[in-house]
Amino acid sequence: MSALLEEAEAKLAPLSVARNLAWWESQVSATDENEERRTRAELAWSDALADAELFAHVKRERERGAGGEEERRLEILRNLMLPQQVPAELRAEIVELESSVEGRFSRHRGVVRGVEVDDTEIKRILRQSDDLAERREAWEASKTVGAEVADDVRRLARLRNEAARGLGYRDWFALSLAVDELDEGKLLETLQQADAATAEPFARWKGALDERLATRFGCAVSELRPWHYADPFFQELPPDGAVDLDGLFEGRDIVELSRRTFDGIELDVAGILGRSDLYPRGGKCQHAFCVDIDRGGDVRVLANVVANQESADTMLHELGHGVYDLGLSAELPWLLRSAHVVATEASAILFGSLARRRDWLQLVLGLGADEGADLADRLRASEAAELLVFARWVLVMNAFERGLYADPDRDLDALWWELVSRFQGVTPPDGRQAPDWAAKIHVAVVPVYYHSYLYGKIVALEIAAALEAAGGGIVDEPQAGARLRDELYAPGQSVRWDRLVEQVTGGPLAVASLAREVSAAVE
Ligand SMILES: [Zn+2]
Repeated sequence: MSALLEEAEAKLAPLSVARNLAWWESQVSATDENEERRTRAELAWSDALADAELFAHVKRERERGAGGEEERRLEILRNLMLPQQVPAELRAEIVELESSVEGRFSRHRGVVRGVEVDDTEIKRILRQSDDLAERREAWEASKTVGAEVADDVRRLARLRNEAARGLGYRDWFALSLAVDELDEGKLLETLQQADAATAEPFARWKGALDERLATRFGCAVSELRPWHYADPFFQELPPDGAVDLDGLFEGRDIVELSRRTFDGIELDVAGILGRSDLYPRGGKCQHAFCVDIDRGGDVRVLANVVANQESADTMLHELGHGVYDLGLSAELPWLLRSAHVVATEASAILFGSLARRRDWLQLVLGLGADEGADLADRLRASEAAELLVFARWVLVMNAFERGLYADPDRDLDALWWELVSRFQGVTPPDGRQAPDWAAKIHVAVVPVYYHSYLYGKIVALEIAAALEAAGGGIVDEPQAGARLRDELYAPGQSVRWDRLVEQVTGGPLAVASLAREVSAAVE
């Protein structure tokens, strides 16, 4: 039996490296050649996981009940292989389509005032411009990629459903949760609780924001439309009404600040930074991610760093994934030497949120103690408001994807705006008929993932509370780094994610921590 697992790992590990490298190259430089290479590597990986004989063998061994670490390896292997047990033509079609849609996202640039602009420039306009026509153009430019890929994203959803149904699942949404070891009933219950905990404080906070926006733009609150908000999806805390920290980051070296943050807790990120691709450039992925290439120390970050608060949050977030990958115990067998999505998002979110915390601003950024004291209340309110904005956005994404996979042929444009109005309180543009949902890259290439951010956020709050209770918190506290490494990172997937979380935080994931946090949001 051990032989079965070792053989499987020996076969999968190099294919996984090739796949990760090809993916990295395709994101660093979105050329046709890199996209083709990536598709080939993805197919080779998928072919290996589709091996029906191996899958049957794994199934038999699981039924026999191996116990201990071997049983866990079999479980992880089964979860990897299950979605690939579909006809080869269908698998290939999905892989090729995903790769092609992602390539179009990387290459696409919106146009504002006749000039091609990247996502950073669109966001800058939405944060800063008082010119309503320009704002509207920027918002519309942020959605043009949606129109370009919508038909293929819809097709992808149909194909993914076909694969899931062939495996006996209701749809792709249900299959994704199952292989991520997430219980659908518990997820829906958690989302409902998050909705209940945030609806009222969000409405109050947003009511105050809308008043300020109406004053700023000289219109009635009822005339506010999506381009009055500070980012294309209203998924981030706007600088207005909170604490605009961007001024503090101007001219600062964000990468150096990130290195300094992790040095302070004795987690070494120099190796990661040396392998990374961190600054904006044409033909490059406009988002940010961290990838563990080989589960052996080659961890890289792709980012588009500029000198502002959001970039600091992003860098700390991605490095929060990176230190997790580096902290996985080298003793673990290959299959277990990886992180569960919820646990790694928790680590990432924990570090990302430091960039708006008083202790980090003082100790790492060098903000004076008096200024820190002046900001303290507003920082707390802004942290709570950020959580509200984020939670409402997750509710949109989750409900949309549930609807998408329940029926990919329904009127998705209408569903999208119905959910955006309900959960975010944003009024759709009059008479708009456009696939704005397809402009959100996750729907196409990271499907059924958004709830992991919410779970991750809740777990991050619980970990922060546990570290606080142990004394000192995180910033410049090496024992916090050691605890994260030993308790959260090192076990990898040898322990199921929900039990791991309990071990680290002292209790099961619960919305109570979120509810407590958001109560500070209303100024
Ligand atoms: Zn992340």
